[in-house]
Amino acid sequence: MDTTLSTDDLKFQDEVRTFFAKAAPEKARQLISHPETYKQGIVQWQKQLYDQGWVAPFWPKEHGGAGWNVTQSYIYECERVQANAPDVVPFGLKMVGPVIYTYGNDEQKRHFLPGILSGDDWWCQGYSEPGAGSDLASLKTRADRDGDDYIVNGSKIWTTYAQYADWIFCLVRTEQSTKPQNGISFLLIDMQTPGITVSPIPSINGVYSLNEVHFDNVRVPQANRIGEEGQGWTYAKSLLAHERTAIARVADSKSRLETLRQWAARERQGGRTMISDPMFQARFTEIEAELMALEYTELRVLAAMANNQSPGAESSLMKIKGTEIQQAIHELGMELAGVYGGIVADEEATVTDIGHDFGDQARKDFMYGRAATIYGGSNEIQKNIIAKRVLGL
Ligand SMILES: Cc1cc2nc3c(=O)[nH]c(=O)nc-3n(C[C@H](O)[C@H](O)[C@H](O)COP(=O)(O)OP(=O)(O)OC[C@H]3O[C@@H](n4cnc5c(N)ncnc54)[C@H](O)[C@@H]3O)c2cc1C
Repeated sequence: MDTTLSTDDLKFQDEVRTFFAKAAPEKARQLISHPETYKQGIVQWQKQLYDQGWVAPFWPKEHGGAGWNVTQSYIYECERVQANAPDVVPFGLKMVGPVIYTYGNDEQKRHFLPGILSGDDWWCQGYSEPGAGSDLASLKTRADRDGDDYIVNGSKIWTTYAQYADWIFCLVRTEQSTKPQNGISFLLIDMQTPGITVSPIPSINGVYSLNEVHFDNVRVPQANRIGEEGQGWTYAKSLLAHERTAIARVADSKSRLETLRQWAARERQGGRTMISDPMFQARFTEIEAELMALEYTELRVLAAMANNQSPGAESSLMKIKGTEIQQAIHELGMELAGVYGGIVADEEATVTDIGHDFGDQARKDFMYGRAATIYGGSNEIQKNIIAKRVLGL
């Protein structure tokens, strides 16, 4: 694969670099790092991207996307990470948006897409339930017809950022007496509708992002159903493939690894810098090589997506490798943090360059990072998908 950038690509790279330098993403970053101003920071940053016309690189131009080719999207992502600029929240732009412009009707596109692009509408994903995670098709939240509406009852769980959401896209059961996958529909529900309650779930890293969402006789217009009744499983699957590809976060891992390299070149343990420790070096190089291999796979998947092919089983492969690498990087970070990675700050610790800020962040990343191999469909389930669809077992 030839990865040399053309003159036009280099010009584009320059344009992106100049934008990030002017946009000053550190202001948004600052807001995002505090729970009270997290949403404000994300929305503010998304609006800056929106004003620039860059908020949805992969969306087709006619729906408000940037209409970039695969190389441009790749350059943008690398520059974003280099500039330490925030990523957008995926639920609207990377998940439900593509479902709406692919399977929604004209009225739904007109009504929902502008708010997703501008950041005015915050979305969350209502797939998992207390009794349905890996076996998603066994979901029980039901939507029963009542005139022009559905009446929704049930519970969703692990709903990330539901506390901020204006809308939730949900998988609901509209038909009870059929094969589980066939009776599922895809509904867009206004979070302000009476009968919806959101209860928080504490996270191990101390940051509030997870929720349970309960539906008690919630009235939803049938006009908010995407596509045909009972066909929600098909739409949901196309969304999951995009979700898994996004979870691989190759550019972010490259940046994190580079940061660790810089720390390891300064940090001394046992009379030498960490980077000159053969064990550390071996681990570092192993992760770097795995990441490089994944980057090439990502380029192939992006090229297929640019030709309107859905990222199929490759997205499962990317999810597995991407999240394993993320966790390996977190472990390396904890090794570097040494005593500062401990839960209780150890005031007696020998003074090193690496301090509590690095240690606290390393610990939080390590802890929350355990979830990466679970969300978006656990890695065991991705292995099942590869076994079935790629290996034909
Ligand atoms: C941080 C976080 C954020 C999330 N955000 C959202 C969200 O916003 N919206 C949403 O809808 N969901 C969300 N989820 C839910 C996530 O998609 C589910 O946790 C995931 O699909 C696994 O389901 P489960 O937790 O019910 O585990 P289970 O399905 O009960 O699985 C338990 C274990 O058994 C294994 N297992 C299960 N079945 C098989 C099998 N057939 N073969 C081999 N192994 C198997 C699994 O791999 C896992 O290790 C989030 C989860 C986390 C952790």
